[in-house]
Amino acid sequence: MTPTVKLLIDGRFVDSTTSEWRDVVNPATQEVLARVPFATRDEVARAVDSAKAAFATWKKTPIGARARIFLKYQQLIREHMKELAALLTAEQGKTLADAEGDIFRGLEVVEHAASIGNLQLGEYAENVAGGVDTYTVQQPLGVCAGITPFNFPAMIPLWMFPMAIATGNTFVLKPSEQDPMVTMRLVELALEAGIPPGVLNVVHGGPEVVDALCDHPDIKAVSFVGSTRVGTHVYQRATLSGKRAQCMMGAKNHAIVLPDAHKEQALNQLVGAAFGAAGQRCMALSVAILVGEARQWIPEIVERARALKVGAGKDNPDLGPVISAAARERIAALIGKGVEQGARLELDGRNLTVPGYEKGNFVGPTILAGVKPGMAVYDQEVFGPVLCLMEADTLDEAIALINANPNGNGTAIFTQSGAAARRFQEDIDVGQVGINVPIPVPVPLFSFTGSRASKLGDLGPYGKQVVLFYTQTKTVTSRWFDDAASSGKVNTTISL
Ligand code: NAD
Repeated sequence: MTPTVKLLIDGRFVDSTTSEWRDVVNPATQEVLARVPFATRDEVARAVDSAKAAFATWKKTPIGARARIFLKYQQLIREHMKELAALLTAEQGKTLADAEGDIFRGLEVVEHAASIGNLQLGEYAENVAGGVDTYTVQQPLGVCAGITPFNFPAMIPLWMFPMAIATGNTFVLKPSEQDPMVTMRLVELALEAGIPPGVLNVVHGGPEVVDALCDHPDIKAVSFVGSTRVGTHVYQRATLSGKRAQCMMGAKNHAIVLPDAHKEQALNQLVGAAFGAAGQRCMALSVAILVGEARQWIPEIVERARALKVGAGKDNPDLGPVISAAARERIAALIGKGVEQGARLELDGRNLTVPGYEKGNFVGPTILAGVKPGMAVYDQEVFGPVLCLMEADTLDEAIALINANPNGNGTAIFTQSGAAARRFQEDIDVGQVGINVPIPVPVPLFSFTGSRASKLGDLGPYGKQVVLFYTQTKTVTSRWFDDAASSGKVNTTISL
């Protein structure tokens, strides 16, 4: 019997009563690991009701008690790291080492949630008028919801529910239907750490469940990570029904390689960031602009990419399979279209077979040179192990190319010139910038700050911004009468 993925409603893991199910498939073998339900409207409503009821007590739970749950939770995640990584690799495909990285980056946000006592603080001003003080408190919103993508099934759910719950909200999570198992194991550990019944709920499904969450009047905020198409829909639908929304979406991340770069370091980092996780990272470097003499480094980039080992994630190669057969076909079609539209195929990863895993969704590292805007492989997010090479004569020309691309998730420059790096940092219109750092995902002391078409909503996940996202500011102006000093006169003017 294939196991079923459960819903979590009111502290209990339950089987869905739906008739609609989907298989969770190992992308290296096509083995069916589990069946995931598409929850019914009634199940979504029950999850929200449970979160709403739990909010009444959870919002009053002392901040130290909330923080201690996340202290315990981070310890439990550490203790289960190997087990979690194996599960993640089986259903998602990435290598075991990368799976541990996925979990670790989420674990850092759990640690951040454990320090909520230093984060959810108000402001205080004494004597804003004689004997009058004003202060603010950051109060939780109520029920919040999270919708997550397939590519980081540990990190991204952990971007969401720990900070939402630590700030005093209750939560309904809708994980990716493609790889929900590691997310559910993390949810089990969260309950073991002490999250009370109803404070965290999980429903599974696709568009209908997402729309039900966006529309539900008792949900106050929605956090989404995924593609630009779906994120735009979620943002519009959630805000139309009066919710706060933050949507972190698709990307096309460019690196600029200047000829004065530390060549060895730059090329290794570029290749790692283009092909790691089979290119299925929203911060993958999928375009490199080679400036001036750096154009001559193409053969060395190709040589490094060719040397990468592709295989099943559990064998810890350099890259594993892509998530599904459909994704593999889409990636292959975009490579073909790139060639048709005039790009030079320097390395072709299509039609790759891995011995022992003949059914796996493998795509090997692929490099297209002479890529130009207007080609489908450039205009669309490939989300596979495909690196597009472009050329420019100057740094300014390269910056202009990046600023003309609609996406603004991440970018990097490789150079040994401080002046060039500084100009890049100042002039580039992208939210996350790496200087000799290929995938500049900020640690949770800061926030994730994609920009332009890569993000909708003002406030990012984790860091200080997410505390503002998950709370509302209440401003209190107070005066305590001192009888001896009171004049007893009625005051009808506006001043205090
Ligand atoms: P996706 O948009 O297909 O799915 C994301 C979520 O939306 C899933 O939970 C899915 O069930 C749901 N969904 C799918 N279609 C829907 C629809 N029509 N209506 C409502 N909900 C729907 O994304 P994905 O393929 O799972 O993930 C890859 C994408 O996520 C890439 O574009 C990647 O760049 C992006 N991503 C962005 C970030 C970031 O921080 N900016 C991080 C990780 C991934």
